[in-house]
Amino acid sequence: MVQALPVVSATPEVDQRGRLLELDREALRQWFVEQGQPAFRADQVRKWLFQRRASEFAQMTDLPKAVRDKLTESFTIFSARIVAHQKSQDGTEKLLVGLAGGGEVECVLLRDGSRRSICVSSQVGCAMGCVFCASGLDGVERNLSGGEILEQMLLLQHCLEADQRLSHIVMMGMGEPLANLPNVLMALGQARADDGLGISPRRITISTVGLPPAIDRLGEHGVAYNLAVSLHAPNDALRNQLVPVNDKIGISSLLAAADRYFHTSGRRLTFEYVLLGGVNDSAECADQLATLLRHRGVLLNVIPYNPVAGLPYKTPSGHSIRRFREILEGAGVNLQFRQRKGSEIDAACGQLRRNRVSS
Ligand code: SF4
Repeated sequence: MVQALPVVSATPEVDQRGRLLELDREALRQWFVEQGQPAFRADQVRKWLFQRRASEFAQMTDLPKAVRDKLTESFTIFSARIVAHQKSQDGTEKLLVGLAGGGEVECVLLRDGSRRSICVSSQVGCAMGCVFCASGLDGVERNLSGGEILEQMLLLQHCLEADQRLSHIVMMGMGEPLANLPNVLMALGQARADDGLGISPRRITISTVGLPPAIDRLGEHGVAYNLAVSLHAPNDALRNQLVPVNDKIGISSLLAAADRYFHTSGRRLTFEYVLLGGVNDSAECADQLATLLRHRGVLLNVIPYNPVAGLPYKTPSGHSIRRFREILEGAGVNLQFRQRKGSEIDAACGQLRRNRVSS
């Protein structure tokens, strides 16, 4: 099994070759046919790429030398560079990736028991402007291509030991995945393909602040991915402050779209709630949240805030965390408090990039 992490530390020359990761199986088969080669060569290349973790065509030794040379002349496999690689004692690894198409994004590998989960970015920056998030501080620069999203997955797979496999994917890194839905779906299609990473849609979660038309398009797409809705506030006045895009949407239409997705996909919804000390952690907020969620049969993930340098928000006190939990549990809401993994590295969304940009 090929294990070398394809780290490129210097800024590469602009490469005019095509990017292999932008091609799905059919497109690669088509390319081989156009080269006068049998279409099954595409299956050989994909096996090397996804299962044997090759990072260069020269490693694909069951392909004729002339074919490997033609591939090398025509395509790059990994075109991003690893700008920073942080490792936490709990096994969390975080990459800051410099993209060939411009900009930097973060992606994370989390080790939890037998789970090997990855958290991947969908945009450079983010337009949603959540006030407690480092990723949105400078707005959005651009959408990532499908290949750039897939490249993060493969780079994180290279961090794994040879006998381990990625088990879960969460689209919860930098950016709003539903604002870049076609490219996110292209990358996830490769991730779940049997000859790709082979990860079931049941183990893939798309996290969103909640853009109702895009939630409906995701439902119409027909693959039942898990949906996690970042709510963060139980009423519009507070949510408009914390998640400014809510001003144009409103919690009721967001919940209606989430309900429609549940009916279409059959997947239990998750709601995310970042608990900010003194902001959205009051007993009143907990009561209002319970009223919104208690009859919906959803899972509520409460995440005590990870402070971000330069932002005024703080971690909630132990007392307010306990009170919040008791009120929601008392109302019958199914909830979990998420552990902050990788807390000694810059594990909150956008922090590693932000620290580098501002240093
Ligand atoms: S929390 Fe997510 S949606 Fe909000 S600004 Fe940060 S990256 Fe964007």
